[in-house]
Amino acid sequence: MSLYNQVLNNLSDLKLEQSKLFLGEYLEEASKKQLSYLEVLKELTDRELKHKKLRSAKMRIKVGNFPFEKGLNDFDFDYQPSINKKEIYELSTLSFIELKKNILFLGSPGVGKTHLAVAVGIAAADNKYNVYFIHAHNLISDLVLAHNENRLESRLKHFSKYKLLIIDEIGYLPIDNVGSNLFFQLIARRYEKSSTIVTTNQPFSRWGEVFDNPVVASAILDRLLHHSHVINITGRSYRVKDKFVEIDKNKMQL
Ligand code: ADP
Ligand code: MG
Repeated sequence: MSLYNQVLNNLSDLKLEQSKLFLGEYLEEASKKQLSYLEVLKELTDRELKHKKLRSAKMRIKVGNFPFEKGLNDFDFDYQPSINKKEIYELSTLSFIELKKNILFLGSPGVGKTHLAVAVGIAAADNKYNVYFIHAHNLISDLVLAHNENRLESRLKHFSKYKLLIIDEIGYLPIDNVGSNLFFQLIARRYEKSSTIVTTNQPFSRWGEVFDNPVVASAILDRLLHHSHVINITGRSYRVKDKFVEIDKNKMQL
């Protein structure tokens, strides 16, 4: 076997797939441009590292269970002037995760709460953080089931391990007393240890009704809000954006 093929086999055994793929090309380039061995090695290892980073980011996004993949670039800030664009871009630098702060997106349906939560979550997954997106009701059903089956502790541990947990749609459906208590336990565990993003259509003053227990609701809010960014979106739903255009057109036709 030629020396070249032996190197290819070694790269394959070491799972350095990019280096294996591009070795020939780099060697040709090296002799054309008279590059040193070190320069070739640097190029190959850079390429390999970049590929590895991309692959693990993709994997984290997949594991993150996002309902869609949208970023801040897909968000039309002009449509929603109550949002401070600079503040949202600041959040996407992810320093809030290092500071173990939470984000609460507040607003009526369709104003972009989930979109922004996903965009920040994907930025986090792109940048080495393990992230998980879950609907509030799925999370609570999961905890209730675990509680009934005597494995609550391991489930709480599981949901506590994420550097960023995104809990979507609190307030769309009421949560009973058991669910509220279990939810509190999770929030209390994550408090000051890791970041949580919450989206809700209910003002905090109504969380007592959402959680069927004002004392627990206030204990949950207390921990969520202590170190947090609250983004209150007061505009109208993006889902009816085109409908308004149609209405405007109709008006113009009249
Ligand atoms: P919410 O969670 O507040 O109910 P979503 O984030 O689910 O709203 O938004 C509904 C749909 O509209 C999604 O497809 C989202 O990507 C889109 N959307 C909402 N606001 C905007 C916006 N300002 N620019 C672009 N797309 C938006
Ligand atoms: Mg939503």
